[in-house]
Amino acid sequence: MREYSKSNYRDIPLFKDVNDSDWNAWKWQFKNTIRDIPTLKKIITLSEKEETNLEKSLGKFRMAITPYYASLMDREYRRDVIRLQAVPRIQELDTAPDDRDDPLHEDVDSPAPGLTHRYPDRVLFLVTHICSMYCRHCTRRRVVGDHDVHLPKDQLQLGIEYIKRHREIRDVLISGGDPLTLSDDQLAYVLDHIREIEHVEIIRLGSRMPVVMPQRITDDLVNMLRKYHPIYLNTHFNHPAEVTHEAKEACARLADAGIPVGNQTVLLRDVNDCPNIMKKLMHELLMIRVKPYYIYQCDLSVGISHFRTSIAKGMEIMENLRGHTTGMAVPTFVVDAPGGGGKIPVMPSYMISQSDRRFVLRNYEGVITTYTQPKNVFSTCGRCKICDDERYKPLDGVAKLLNGEKMCLEPQELVRRKRI
Ligand SMILES: *Cc1c(COP(=O)(O)O)cnc(C)c1O
Ligand code: SF4
Repeated sequence: MREYSKSNYRDIPLFKDVNDSDWNAWKWQFKNTIRDIPTLKKIITLSEKEETNLEKSLGKFRMAITPYYASLMDREYRRDVIRLQAVPRIQELDTAPDDRDDPLHEDVDSPAPGLTHRYPDRVLFLVTHICSMYCRHCTRRRVVGDHDVHLPKDQLQLGIEYIKRHREIRDVLISGGDPLTLSDDQLAYVLDHIREIEHVEIIRLGSRMPVVMPQRITDDLVNMLRKYHPIYLNTHFNHPAEVTHEAKEACARLADAGIPVGNQTVLLRDVNDCPNIMKKLMHELLMIRVKPYYIYQCDLSVGISHFRTSIAKGMEIMENLRGHTTGMAVPTFVVDAPGGGGKIPVMPSYMISQSDRRFVLRNYEGVITTYTQPKNVFSTCGRCKICDDERYKPLDGVAKLLNGEKMCLEPQELVRRKRI
């Protein structure tokens, strides 16, 4: 059996007298979250310059580091991957020319407080602004951590009512902030109301707790969650160093409760912008029963430009995964389109050319091969019952061009349409 590293918090003077039951209690972790420089200095070494820079940047996007995550940081090394994700740097004060407060238009596409309805059949429901730890690369920094609140009940209710009214919503993605900062009871309240809506098929939770505060994944929590099946949880590991004994146990509790766990990694400069690190991460995740789901290109949110890489780096990573390793270890690399276009997959092209009979492809090794297409290429569909069900027809998009419902899609402002 392979051994996973454990947090060595007893080596840190600040935590050396904490007893195990406190350390393992999420409320203790929450209460003792590191929010100020003097406490941080008891854990890691900060140069004078780092300290003044840190002070300056604190005003912009607050700091919060769970004791557990802090204990994973290297005490000395400034560029440690855990530290880069947790400790503010002066570059957070920079604004790059294309930075936006709300690059994904989550507020613009919001029909109710906390709710974003972008895709036809699913919604994103941000039920809190609070996280256990404030990741330095957070894309939602415009809302996260600015006021310490969960969405009040009357506002939650508006979101729930919206979902009820919209029969096309079959998938509700509860996120935040981190929805697992809610107490079990508060979360059960939300889940109760959503599960009772007949047309909601699946509920997904987005939470970084398994990574930054694995203590939150208690037996009580998973026993509560499993009452609302089918429940899925997506988390956010960015580096193999985060796959510890504690994280593994947390993911095991979820998986044992029948909650499939997926992972959404953000491509971050100096943290994981390397094909080998990413491959190791994907392998580590599968070993703790977490399925790699997405790799995100870093968004254009204000104050995170120092984390951005080129999209090409993501392409290189995908080229190094597909074929080279287990298919289940290969997530989809997506660019979340600025302006609210949603997630757009990007990958190297495997298609080389085509004729009406032959499709020419290349594989990961560079072998070029042909697939001979059938002579009679047309589907002979006799219209089954599924076709009569409105729920499975596309509402819009290129899919409508394919099924013949539309002949073309036009930009909203087409100059030639305005000529008179
Ligand atoms: C990411 C996201 C979803 C979920 O997307 P999937 O591809 O289904 O995981 C839904 N709504 C919004 C606004 C999102 O950003
Ligand atoms: S847990 Fe998610 S929402 Fe919270 S600060 Fe980190 S990236 Fe942002």
